Amino acid sequence: MTYDYDLIVIGGGSGGIACAKRSASYSKKVLCIERSRLGGTCVNVGCVPKKVMWSAASIADVVNHDMKHYGFSGGEGVKLDFGLLKKRRDAYVKRLNDIYENGFKSAGVTGIFGESAFVDAHTVEVTGSDGSKTRYTGDKILIATGGRPHLPPGEGVKEHCISSDGFFEMETLPKVAVVVGAGYIAVELAGVMNSLGTEVHLVVRKGKALREFDPMISDGLDAEMVKAGIHIHRNTNGVAKVALDDSGKKNVTLHSGDVIYGADIVLMAAGRVPNTADLCVECEWEPNTEALHLECCGVKVTSRKYIIVDSYQNTNVENIYALGDVCGTVELTPMAIAAGRRLADRLYSGKVEHQEAKVSYELVPTVVFSHPTIGTCGMTEPQAIAKYGQSNIKVYTSKFANLFYGIFDMEPDQKPKTLMKVICAGLDEKVVGIHVLGMGADEMMQGFGVAMKMGCTKADLDSCVAIHPTAAEELVTMG
Ligand code: FAD
Ligand code: NDP
Repeated sequence: MTYDYDLIVIGGGSGGIACAKRSASYSKKVLCIERSRLGGTCVNVGCVPKKVMWSAASIADVVNHDMKHYGFSGGEGVKLDFGLLKKRRDAYVKRLNDIYENGFKSAGVTGIFGESAFVDAHTVEVTGSDGSKTRYTGDKILIATGGRPHLPPGEGVKEHCISSDGFFEMETLPKVAVVVGAGYIAVELAGVMNSLGTEVHLVVRKGKALREFDPMISDGLDAEMVKAGIHIHRNTNGVAKVALDDSGKKNVTLHSGDVIYGADIVLMAAGRVPNTADLCVECEWEPNTEALHLECCGVKVTSRKYIIVDSYQNTNVENIYALGDVCGTVELTPMAIAAGRRLADRLYSGKVEHQEAKVSYELVPTVVFSHPTIGTCGMTEPQAIAKYGQSNIKVYTSKFANLFYGIFDMEPDQKPKTLMKVICAGLDEKVVGIHVLGMGADEMMQGFGVAMKMGCTKADLDSCVAIHPTAAEELVTMG
């Protein structure tokens, strides 16, 4: 049997692009089909525009809060041209889209735009923007279709709320924003808007955001968010109703009975769902996705519609693979990229050392771009206790004000705090978790992630001479 392509990749996002390019580097004939914009979630409505907004917010923090302590004046008159910021951000994203398109050309990948659906296990039908339908066959097919925001149920939610995708379409900065959710996106975007000057209400179902993180981190961020002026609505059980008032502002009724009045936007950040089916199983809300028609190729999904794969990204169908957010294991860009490259290595490099190539989902360092940032890798303290037993772990902590705040004209207890925790297990004190909240945590964690991957112990951390004066040095000098 001959096919049009050695590999068809459905989805031109982080994982799909990585696998397509790596496969082409092994002289394979590769087609990558993208229905929207190359680069996927990360480049268009995720990491990249989010980081731009986080950087803008960090500048605002310096202007509004920090610079006066260093003797600078004039911060009061500084204004943000939100429209210009968005224009420059969009232009940057567009530049990245073009870079990806050119990258395909130079790598020898055929990239086309259209909505893909399976016809059978070797055939994909692509519907173009003009409605034309073209079929392509592939020896192997990779599903890398990512995910999309999930809107929880609630009266008026579909009509009056936006998701993170909508956040990046905003032309003006809202005066009042309600952010609903308790994960990465909720705390990141709540932090951005708060720093830029919006009155932010963060609505969490339970007691606090980031409940799955180490308690020191989630409690610490909670305290910093409150100090920064974010109104946190706790134990609400979510949103019951969103309605417009006479002036077009949104009134948000919570299941707890409380009402938040006069919001310009209500941003739902209550999780994401995979791009496998046309309707989200829970909310039946769907912005623009057609079905992938997985039933035509027989690929199995979980009850929440994530594609089931083994540790090699194999689905239950021999020639079909899946990776990235559509599998839902670790929903991070570098994870999807690494999985895509390892898969291409395994399938096509022909090298003995790649026969068993697969990505490891263990000890993945991650950063939350909150204010302040969080960096974390490995187990939380409760996880470590559950795995090793309380008596077999040793926990080192540190709490201090970054030297940046040293000369600030404020009471010591008012200065933003950096919190650190190193969790060790066993007699050799193997490091099984590192958690940092505070300025610079985002840039700190990569190197410690390498050390943890190498199986470092507390003694290894101690044997590394500190870099002074930094915040990171605390991690190698904990007593
Ligand atoms: P995607 O990047 O989503 O790519 C999937 C692509 O498939 C999309 O372009 C989609 O249009 C296309 N597609 C879907 N269905 C079809 C179809 N039927 N036919 C053709 N094409 C199709 N991760 C980080 O590591 N760091 C961060 O700071 C970070 N910030 C984030 C901020 C936000 C607001 C969000 C939403 C996510 C963030 N993430 C971050 C997560 C990260 O963006 C994802 O984990 C990553 O993009 C997943 O890559 P992927 O290749 O699996 O899917
Ligand atoms: P998450 O899954 O991280 O968090 C969503 C949270 O919202 C849930 O954990 C839940 O918390 C809460 N929630 C769920 N349903 C409701 C509801 N009906 N009402 C109110 N709250 C609700 O999802 P995100 O959308 O924030 O992010 C998706 C993924 O994208 C992340 O897990 C991460 O992998 C990735 N990402 C990574 C970033 C980074 O690397 N910096 C940034 C952004 C996203 P609870 O149970 O406590 O209520």
